Amino acid sequence: METEIIIIQENNGAFSDTEEQALKQAGEILQQGGLVAFPTETVYGLGGDALNPESSRKIYAAKGRPSDNPLIVHISKFEDIYPIVKEVSEEAVKIAKAFWPGPLTVIFPKSDKVPVETTGGLDTVAVRMPSHPVARKLIEYGGGYVAAPSANSSGKPSPTVAKYVVEDMTGKIEAIIDGGEVGIGLESTIIDLTVSPPQILRPGFVTRQMLEEVLGQVDVDITILDADSGQAPKAPGMKYRHYAPKGELVIVKGEPEEVVAYINARAAKDAAAGEKVGVICTEEYAAAYKADTVKCVGSRLDEDSIARHLYTCLREFDDENVTGIYSECFTAEGFGQAIMNRLLKAAGHKVIDLSNNKEAAK
Ligand code: AMP
Ligand code: MG
Repeated sequence: METEIIIIQENNGAFSDTEEQALKQAGEILQQGGLVAFPTETVYGLGGDALNPESSRKIYAAKGRPSDNPLIVHISKFEDIYPIVKEVSEEAVKIAKAFWPGPLTVIFPKSDKVPVETTGGLDTVAVRMPSHPVARKLIEYGGGYVAAPSANSSGKPSPTVAKYVVEDMTGKIEAIIDGGEVGIGLESTIIDLTVSPPQILRPGFVTRQMLEEVLGQVDVDITILDADSGQAPKAPGMKYRHYAPKGELVIVKGEPEEVVAYINARAAKDAAAGEKVGVICTEEYAAAYKADTVKCVGSRLDEDSIARHLYTCLREFDDENVTGIYSECFTAEGFGQAIMNRLLKAAGHKVIDLSNNKEAAK
């Protein structure tokens, strides 16, 4: 299959006539059962008509995604929620008012209109209204309901720039819309409103504190807080080792100077053994690292920058055939919880804690 690349300038939704026309055609591809990748404010999505089971099947095939991992349905107007869910609670209206359009996905009991192919066999459906102008326009032209998981091959880090969508999806889908770099860089927060109190199934830019300000008590799925809980995550996709780079990734936790010394020592040893070593670090300590490739995600104080650059760093290490990666540990408060959740998954939870491991720190 030939994959068309459509370029849309970042212009806050003021599309040229040619761009408008291209988005309309992309919407027609969706309506005819084809797949189109597009930018959202979180990461690039791989879109298909959410109400067409065949489109959902194609999404799973293009990504190599396990079919029990449900897709998020994207809408462009709040009222479009009604036909696809059984009930819209007061709580749902409140959080939609507060956070939509934006990086928040909400779980509802699904109506019969939504095929089980889209929901991975579940009787609930995940819904989000994105804020990215390209995403909104495409959803509108695509018929109003676009199922869109991240536009990466299953298991790889989600794409934050179109280049990595092109790498994973060329030849597998009808079109890719290149709308530049995304703003947030990590997938949406997922909240389940079918339980009481509501529960966060995946942390993201919209934090527990932000949600509690609107809803009162909100719980967090235990598996996000405790990797050894022995329980299955409530969001089926969270059980998979997502986000993984090809090289082995290890997170090193401790006092910054100790972390630098430890990583430099390990990097030298690994390099001597023939490994190509990469480091993920913050601006404050970047100059102190010695490795084949040192990537800075931004200041320790700037979580937005860390989130926006994390996946791109991981993908670049793949491009550079890095075989071993060490990362600094970041704070796990607020939005940091989402950052650490993704980093820990990418690392398969391999963490060296220097405060428990003074031998290693020498
Ligand atoms: P992605 O689209 O790649 O960001 O992944 C979507 C995430 O949403 C996965 O972790 C899914 O398991 C989760 N998800 C989608 N629908 C549901 C649902 N009905 N109930 C729980 N989790 C869901
Ligand atoms: Mg994904």
